[in-house]
Amino acid sequence: MKTIDDYNFEDKKALIRVDFNVPLDGDFNVTDTSRIDAATPSILKVLEDGGSAVLMSHLGRPKGKVNPDMSLSHICEKVSEIIGVQVKFASDCVGDVADTAVSELQSGEVLLLENLRFYSEEESGDEAFAEALSKHGDIYVNDAFGTAHRAHASTTIVANYFSGNKCFGYLLAKEIKAIEKVMQTGEKPITAILGGAKVSSKITIIENILDKVDNLIIGGGMTYTFVKAQGGKVGDSICEDDKMELALDILKQASEKGVKVHLPVDVLAADAFDNSANTQFMDVNEIPDGWQGLDAGPQTMENFKQVILDSKTILWNGPVGVFEMENFAKGTIAVGNAIDEATQNGAFSLVGGGDSVAAVKQFGFEEKVSYVSTGGGAMLESLEGRTLPGIAAILG
Ligand code: AMP
Repeated sequence: MKTIDDYNFEDKKALIRVDFNVPLDGDFNVTDTSRIDAATPSILKVLEDGGSAVLMSHLGRPKGKVNPDMSLSHICEKVSEIIGVQVKFASDCVGDVADTAVSELQSGEVLLLENLRFYSEEESGDEAFAEALSKHGDIYVNDAFGTAHRAHASTTIVANYFSGNKCFGYLLAKEIKAIEKVMQTGEKPITAILGGAKVSSKITIIENILDKVDNLIIGGGMTYTFVKAQGGKVGDSICEDDKMELALDILKQASEKGVKVHLPVDVLAADAFDNSANTQFMDVNEIPDGWQGLDAGPQTMENFKQVILDSKTILWNGPVGVFEMENFAKGTIAVGNAIDEATQNGAFSLVGGGDSVAAVKQFGFEEKVSYVSTGGGAMLESLEGRTLPGIAAILG
């Protein structure tokens, strides 16, 4: 696996695909700089070698049309401030404007190109557009994990024009290693904690990880499809009746593969989907009509904690309760605390995919786990066992 460390960029132009799809407020101020921070080490490495960096990214969903509200010019000052170099801006990512700006770029300088998605050719993976982009650099660096699951022009197709001169940036390399550590080289026992709302959105992940893990903790809204499928009463809890057979099949497969499945035994149920609803702890199998399970109960939290503390490798995807409401966040916090403790005891813990990162950030677990993935969709697809096109394009 070639990374940016395998190259010396002296007098070279690095064409770097970054993920600067950052949130902006009404005055176009960047409200969360994490993605810029995450790309900074790769940019600095190129500059320190004595090279120059041409940065390309998308911002928002302009759907192939120029939209001034989604111009990357809004973030140019913030990027300059973070990397400590005044960043130049090209008001187009291809054509004369871009070509001239690139040709005038000197070693030690950074150029940010305008939003790639102002062209529909970006998302369609157009060859000619990718070729035009490829003219902007001597070496292609992909450092955008958040879009690595897309076969777009700048993330995948462009790499075809850099045979032998393409590599992963630091961020993307870190993401790949973190996934490998769980899915391929993880120290046993390996535990996956899957929560979130629905079985249907996690099914491919579950099927893929049954071959890799020793323990599967199932929590959150998914619980009730499993419970009802086994004959329990789930009341008004979220439940996918059409997935009950699938749930039974997963349990059968798990038992055949020697994977221990841990489901909640008790829950905090409420008489409405509301933070101020009346609540009661209940047996997970005996939730009456008019009540719904919205968080893990105390015995469940204790059971999950023991499994997590006994693990050497931990993957966490999805909250185990409706964490957005304070009264139903305790289960998710308990899982986070247990992962924190296991990590302190030497386990490797990876959090990522979909909404998990929001929960982790909200409760301050970001610093306590080994790795928090920056790519929601890309991480989900990796956990499903798919090869991401952006990664394959560098390896190929
Ligand atoms: P996902 O994006 O699939 O990881 O789902 C995350 C969502 O699942 C969060 O918004 C949670 O509020 C929701 N969730 C977790 N537990 C439950 C539950 N018991 N009932 C309904 N929704 C839940």
